Amino acid sequence: MAIKIVQKKGVVLERNIKGDHCLFVLNNSTLKEFPYAKELDRKLKRTHKKMTVLLKEPITLELNDGRFISFIVADKNLSTFQRHTLIRKGTQPLLQENPDMLTIGLFGDDKLKEINARAAVYVSLLNSQALPSRKKEDSKKNIKSIELLGVEVKDQFEHETAVVIGNTLTRELTMLPPNELTPLIYRTKIKSFAKSYGWRHQEFDMTQLKKMGAGSFVAVGQGSEPQDAAIVHLTYKPKTINKTIAVIGKGICFDTGGHNLKPARYMHGMHEDMNGSAVSLGILLTATLLKLPIQIDCWLAIAQNHIGPKAYKQNDVVKSLNGISIEIMHTDAEGRMVLADTLTLASRLKPDMMMDFATLTGSMATALGDRYSGVLSNRPELSCLAVGAGSEAGERITAFPFDADYEEDLDSIIADIKQCTLEGGADHIHAARFLNRFIEKNVPWLHIDLSSSNRKGGLGAALSDVNGFGVSFGIQVLQKILAK
Ligand SMILES: [Zn+2]
Repeated sequence: MAIKIVQKKGVVLERNIKGDHCLFVLNNSTLKEFPYAKELDRKLKRTHKKMTVLLKEPITLELNDGRFISFIVADKNLSTFQRHTLIRKGTQPLLQENPDMLTIGLFGDDKLKEINARAAVYVSLLNSQALPSRKKEDSKKNIKSIELLGVEVKDQFEHETAVVIGNTLTRELTMLPPNELTPLIYRTKIKSFAKSYGWRHQEFDMTQLKKMGAGSFVAVGQGSEPQDAAIVHLTYKPKTINKTIAVIGKGICFDTGGHNLKPARYMHGMHEDMNGSAVSLGILLTATLLKLPIQIDCWLAIAQNHIGPKAYKQNDVVKSLNGISIEIMHTDAEGRMVLADTLTLASRLKPDMMMDFATLTGSMATALGDRYSGVLSNRPELSCLAVGAGSEAGERITAFPFDADYEEDLDSIIADIKQCTLEGGADHIHAARFLNRFIEKNVPWLHIDLSSSNRKGGLGAALSDVNGFGVSFGIQVLQKILAK
């Protein structure tokens, strides 16, 4: 990302502002002395609002000198999510004009200014990236430079920039139409990423998976023509390795539901069912750019869920890679089928920890809406760590129970386990209990069910509906594990 970030220490003065598009991040104690305070005051009086309104919503002024300024108040007590949301709303009208340069004025004490500078750089970079569009006219372009006034942060925002690059890759891939991202095209892209970023690249295609006995994955992959599904394994191996972590992603390039076909309303958008794999790639890319001292094995379960003579159906019984027989209950529960064998492969390398990302269940969305994602884990302390990481990253995660007695609901008369129940209920918990059966060597494991991968109008830092939720969170998890 070619972006110039210029920092100027000292008090923010009107004459020091170069650009026409500015965000002023004020705090409660600086609410009197700042450039354009009079103009803001006049606008507030005219609309019968008080300065404290800025705590909740930004106010944007279009000034006589042509400047466009958004004001927000962001104090220390805000959560990262709240801070990101305020900055997103404040910068939205500015970025809509596609400026080349964005000015960010910071107020308050040094500590607060740094917190707000980092958040503002992250949010504004994230929202000024061109995303896939097939419209004849799309004028969106990236900002070329950011001018920071009132602050001097030691590094050049390497962390924020790397997360933006990872998150943008996730959004780009997720937004591609399904005819532009079939499993084969996706695999080709991943191969070229591996070459660019120096990742070791390995593929298990359908022929190999059949031979290996990965019947759970194959059950889904066999329904598409061509049979281009595969499990892709990428490895990032830095010089210093303090931990080994596996990141696994569900990559269903299109989910029709299979023979238990989805109705049109629910099938629409199902090209985004590969979001979990895109989040995994985003984390891998960010970790590589940040040169984290962790070996990351990234496992992507890439397939489509189609109808057809070879597609799997209800009452089929298939055998997974680790020898467990599964009774098929509902062909739309394909995510757990492709993940099951992928988790087995990932766990066989015995990483210190593994985490998977998947747009897995409708019941998680019912439980949380699209503002939060859910986590389940075979280690309660890891769940806590994940909730903390989500809060720090501004990508909110909450934990769900993982008690063994939930698994009784998956008892099958004919096979070792049922794929799911037909009653629905706590399917997000059932899905996690199901997946747990395919993990070998008792590897500590986090399972993230991405109910917040798409929220209309944006969520937290991101303005786009597809928001790349999970990349910043995942990096935070890795850093917390490194710090332990
Ligand atoms: Zn499905």
